[in-house]
Amino acid sequence: MPGGSAQTLRPFLWRADQLYPDTEIVSRTHEGIVRYDYDEFADRAAQLANALDAAGYGDGERIGTFCWNHHRHFETYFGIPGMGAQLHTINPLLPDKHIQYIVENAQDRTIFVDQSLLPKLEGAVADDAEPFESVERFVVMGESVPDTELDAVAYESFVGDQPTTYDWPDLEEDRPAGLCYTSGTTGRPKGVEYTQQMLWSHTMAIQSPQGIPLSDDDVMMPVVPMFHVNAWGLPFSATAGGAKHVYPGPQPEPADLAHLIEEEGVTVTAGVPTVWLGLMEYVKENDVDLSSLERLVVGGSAAPEAMIRFFDDHDVELVHAWGMTETAPVGAVAHLKSDLEDADYETQLQKRSKQGLIAPGLEYRVIDDDGDEVPHDGEAFGELQIRGPWVTTEYFKRPEANESEFEDGFLKTGDVVSVDEDGYIKIVDRAKDVIKSGGEWISSQELENALMAHDHVSEAAVIGVPHERWQERPLALVVPTEDADADSLADELREHILEEYPKWWVPDNVVIIDEVPKTATGKFNKQALREEYADESLV
Ligand code: ADP
Repeated sequence: MPGGSAQTLRPFLWRADQLYPDTEIVSRTHEGIVRYDYDEFADRAAQLANALDAAGYGDGERIGTFCWNHHRHFETYFGIPGMGAQLHTINPLLPDKHIQYIVENAQDRTIFVDQSLLPKLEGAVADDAEPFESVERFVVMGESVPDTELDAVAYESFVGDQPTTYDWPDLEEDRPAGLCYTSGTTGRPKGVEYTQQMLWSHTMAIQSPQGIPLSDDDVMMPVVPMFHVNAWGLPFSATAGGAKHVYPGPQPEPADLAHLIEEEGVTVTAGVPTVWLGLMEYVKENDVDLSSLERLVVGGSAAPEAMIRFFDDHDVELVHAWGMTETAPVGAVAHLKSDLEDADYETQLQKRSKQGLIAPGLEYRVIDDDGDEVPHDGEAFGELQIRGPWVTTEYFKRPEANESEFEDGFLKTGDVVSVDEDGYIKIVDRAKDVIKSGGEWISSQELENALMAHDHVSEAAVIGVPHERWQERPLALVVPTEDADADSLADELREHILEEYPKWWVPDNVVIIDEVPKTATGKFNKQALREEYADESLV
């Protein structure tokens, strides 16, 4: 083959093992803090590969994981795809019926499962009509197997007697290496396969200065779950760069995150906005030393401007990024272009709170309702369509979706965006969340950001509800802060919106709620809100 070897994950592990055998991997687990180095990691990944080989797995066979972020889950990230099988990360926060569908669709042969998630998995198996027929064994992450009705072995016994070296094979670039399902707030979840080459090219791109580069002086803590889009690819890129890894374990609370940042000297961390809202509250009330933290990567949902300001005030650079399961996931990152370095803070903030500049290696276009490309003037909007080496070109076993979700080799993202003169992409809304009022569009996402910038609002979701005259009108569902005055809040918020937006954008109703329901990936579950408030028609 010209060029010597294929674009696969193998060289990343090899490099870390060669150059940084003593660099640490630290993991919060149900057994306490576990700490080892790349040398031992490489040995254990080899043991896992040997165990999978002995079990007869290989090309095209899928091995599921049902786990939080920890060192054993990380071992599966290299052990499974490295020996030629396919790593299928399953989101344990999904409803049982989605988990049953996903396992049946993927035909997983083995599932690695956390002790704390065993009851959830047992439940999904128990009420399945054809209980996980493809699955031959469950491997429980730990030293031993607790009481369970599943046919399970402990991870440490599964890998324990295996040799610590493995002859990692030459794999072809198009070998399926990963699989992840989009959480499917509407309809059945759709599977996205990642080939070795997709994971390699995504890793290289996010290692570029325009991505989320990690080096041997970085300490990377992915809070974004490893069960969803490979924790944004950070376990792979941290290994490629020789960074120290810190895994926050099962259901980390803000206090756990703060503790790990302080104790382990975390320099880069990443997660969805809800996680950081929790940390912000914690930091306000407790004495937390964030001085090691250089960058905090936020994506999955829009990072509110107030969050960027907060972390700026604490000398932590909040890097806003955009992506999807289908884009493996990073597609755009909101770094400042060099000619904006001297711009005033507010101008910079405005750019940084957009979803960002396209990642190097990808191409996109923005298409309006008439099928035309829109100008990059920061005003015109349309659907973002994207293509590139790590963007999927098909869904797993879903020919009907392949017909509708791709066009001319581009993935139709379902995100409505504008692009400004500098090339910053801004998500106006998800196509299904846009509110259509009197033939005009209102961005629910913009209203949410504006509401959340108010001092008396901790969370806000805006949905469209049916309206006889205007077709749809915005309804705001607001979680107030403790010091808010519930009686006057609705009026205060209307005034606040009017300061920046036209009158017809002001939500007709503001409903106070205790909590915004979240999806399995931590986003506002607008579908659930739309169902719950469907009758709130404002005729
Ligand atoms: P699901 O929402 O089904 O879990 P994904 O995790 O793949 O699917 O989410 C992808 C979507 O998340 C994008 O299409 C976009 O709508 C939204 N998204 C991702 N990053 C951002 C961001 N920085 N700002 C706003 N929305 C975002």
